[in-house]
Amino acid sequence: MLLFDGLSTRAERPYDEGMMPNLLKIQFHGKLNDFLSGDRKGTYIEHPVQKRRSVKDLIESLGVPHTEVDIIVVNHQSVSFDFILFGGAVLEVYPSGKTPPLEALIHNAVPIPEPPRFVLDVHLGKLASYMRMLGFDTWYRNDYDDPELAAISSQQQRILITCDKRLLMRKKILLGYFMRSRKPQQQIKELLTHFNLFNYQPTHALCISCNGIIHAVNKESIQEKLLPLTREHYQTFYQCSDCKKIYWEGSHHTQMQQLIERIKAP
Ligand SMILES: [Zn+2]
Repeated sequence: MLLFDGLSTRAERPYDEGMMPNLLKIQFHGKLNDFLSGDRKGTYIEHPVQKRRSVKDLIESLGVPHTEVDIIVVNHQSVSFDFILFGGAVLEVYPSGKTPPLEALIHNAVPIPEPPRFVLDVHLGKLASYMRMLGFDTWYRNDYDDPELAAISSQQQRILITCDKRLLMRKKILLGYFMRSRKPQQQIKELLTHFNLFNYQPTHALCISCNGIIHAVNKESIQEKLLPLTREHYQTFYQCSDCKKIYWEGSHHTQMQQLIERIKAP
């Protein structure tokens, strides 16, 4: 009797997900392949479906942060991050800027704020000064920890730029970008290219030290703070409204012009 019961139970539930894993196939497109090992790039990866799981969870378990993903297609239908996976599904995952030929697309990527605002992780100090020189509102400190960076990004809707893909996988972070380049001048180029910001016209000049707004000041009002040679050779001055740092045409302005020329060069 006991033996018979056991057999009948098994026969009635031949596709028990807990017992027999189903498989799905997933392929990543474009720059999302940067996160995959060589044998997984540009091809279908087979994956078991053993438990109730969202597509976002699967994508991140394969090493791709959700902040890099825009459109997800499951069996020719565009879906959102919370879509629950099933055995037999065929998934295509696209980065921002790459669009499959389908109607009724669901965009999972959050649109970037206008004007663009950024927060940079602690390893990107040089990039932070380049971005401020170009007039991008950029929060940076060399002592922020990961929860602080995530909170700033989420509360102030700032795009978090980091070389740490685990940080971008935090649920709280909706706006983020994984920096591929390691050299600051390549990083600024990569960023302007990715966000299509080469022609950005800043509303204010920003302080390289603190991100405060810089405004013109009379030489008389600050001249006791100048070194003798600076006082002698320069007439036009600017000052940060927050940290009071003083800039003059020979410093900030020339550096900025040189930087713009370098990053715009092919
Ligand atoms: Zn300042």
